[in-house]
Amino acid sequence: MNPWIGTFIGWCLSWFCGRTHKTVPDVTIIYVKRLFPGWAAAQTWGKIILVKERYAKPSIIRHELVHVEQWKRLGFWGLGFLVQYLWESIIHGYENNKFEIEARERQ
Ligand SMILES: [Zn+2]
Repeated sequence: MNPWIGTFIGWCLSWFCGRTHKTVPDVTIIYVKRLFPGWAAAQTWGKIILVKERYAKPSIIRHELVHVEQWKRLGFWGLGFLVQYLWESIIHGYENNKFEIEARERQ
């Protein structure tokens, strides 16, 4: 299912924070100067990866590509991932969020 809600948020953030730099099939990678929260190296919104330039390493991109897959897999146009990711973060914290664990294992 196309996670268009997340992709829409990603485009809005990229307009505010950065610039388009490189596209891999079906995914747009945008180098940004800032992210919210500020400590984040990269973020994935639907099929858009926002990454701070100095962190744009293959392992980080591979990690974020797992999140693109999660956005698609959980359906409901991106709402499935958005809601479950926030829920996981509230209950288990960032490090123990099951989506982060999966992305770390496959990065
Ligand atoms: Zn992650």
